[in-house]
Amino acid sequence: KGSKFRIPIPDHLQLVLNACNEDNPGKNADYIPELRDADSNKLGVAVSTVDGYLYTAGDVDIEFSIQSISKAFVYALAIEEHGLEYVLTRVGVEPSGEAFNELSLEQDTCRPLNPMINAGAITTHTLIGKKDTTYEERAEMVRKGLSKFAGRELTVDENVYDSEMKHAFRNLAIANMLRNYNVFDLDPKKVVEGYTRQCAVNVTAKDLAVMAAVLANSGVQPVTGERVVRPETVRQTLSVMMTCGMYDGAGDWVTQIGFPAKSGVAGGIIGALPGQVGIATFSPKLDKHGNSLRGVRICKRLSDDMGLHIMHQP
Ligand code: GLU
Repeated sequence: KGSKFRIPIPDHLQLVLNACNEDNPGKNADYIPELRDADSNKLGVAVSTVDGYLYTAGDVDIEFSIQSISKAFVYALAIEEHGLEYVLTRVGVEPSGEAFNELSLEQDTCRPLNPMINAGAITTHTLIGKKDTTYEERAEMVRKGLSKFAGRELTVDENVYDSEMKHAFRNLAIANMLRNYNVFDLDPKKVVEGYTRQCAVNVTAKDLAVMAAVLANSGVQPVTGERVVRPETVRQTLSVMMTCGMYDGAGDWVTQIGFPAKSGVAGGIIGALPGQVGIATFSPKLDKHGNSLRGVRICKRLSDDMGLHIMHQP
């Protein structure tokens, strides 16, 4: 396990890191102390190939909360469990063009617009497990599912969880709206607790690169060799990441960087190039869309240098 990893840092990644680190604009998320006080100088990039080689530069062993990046993986787990057809009846796939925490539903169907906004992600969370699964069991199943992608046991940051729950008013409002429209018939508060534990799972940039590489590798974990999800599930997940993964900056992202990605409010970004690599960056300061600012820079630079834009024709 892990024996296939070759850790020496290729000069190129360090070069990219330096080039993207000339200044450090943007702002940490400040709605909870754990994110507000995170060391904003930290900067890391990790690239995992689909055959399990990992290349890194910078701060790639620091744990931070996965936050919204979890939405992509839990969507994949839900499809794996219930099939795409059923999941589509519960959560749509249209980019919202709205803020990630908007209280909105599709007009005719009352579905959340897509699984990358909170309304969709909270609904997706409820799809994990069976009818009689308890809220605690569901949160644990999600943690275990995320761990399978990472190829190691991930843990929940209890401080982040506690702080998030003290400020979860908006997600509680969303969950109550979902309950009101019968998107699910569970206890909204308990659902938000489970979803919040999902967001509070700790990862490193290395973990995220490997998790993204599972998506780049049609669902097979490149280090353990385990099939985590099916190729059809990966196709769906990457497609939704492509159109909805980068908050309301999705259009800029797709045109300028051009590979499926997902970002989180703690400063992580993942990207996945089908058949090639999983990419992860970590830098806590965010741009106006809520995406890690130096992280976006690194992805742009890697996309340009390595011709990773999926519309790129040599
Ligand atoms: N726990 C955060 C929320 O759902 C995640 C935010 C994010 O990463 O965008 O509000």
